[in-house]
Amino acid sequence: MVDFCPECSNLLRKRTMNGEAYIVCRCGYTRKIEDNDEDLEKDALKKKKALEKNLIILSKEDKIPVNPIVDKYCPKCGHKKAEAWQEQTRSADESSTSFFRCLKCKHTWREY
Ligand SMILES: [Zn+2]
Ligand SMILES: [Zn+2]
Repeated sequence: MVDFCPECSNLLRKRTMNGEAYIVCRCGYTRKIEDNDEDLEKDALKKKKALEKNLIILSKEDKIPVNPIVDKYCPKCGHKKAEAWQEQTRSADESSTSFFRCLKCKHTWREY
């Protein structure tokens, strides 16, 4: 941290007196340095912001559908690759339904 004297604009220097830190100037200006509370707070804030950034990135990634590609014969165009995913049907006793989307014509169908 570089600081300048508000009295004469010279560069201030750090000095420790009686175990306490001061910044002093050759003109006689002296200011006590409170523990680096401020810096610690800034660091914590920085870390928090970085964390939030990461969380946002993660949640964005979660929303991108990444479905496995399977060898599946499209009933519409005959293409042999399809995106596959499963969805739970409304009634709890029914098992989940497999959905397929043709990579070529985007035709979507399901299989029980
Ligand atoms: Zn000064
Ligand atoms: Zn198709």
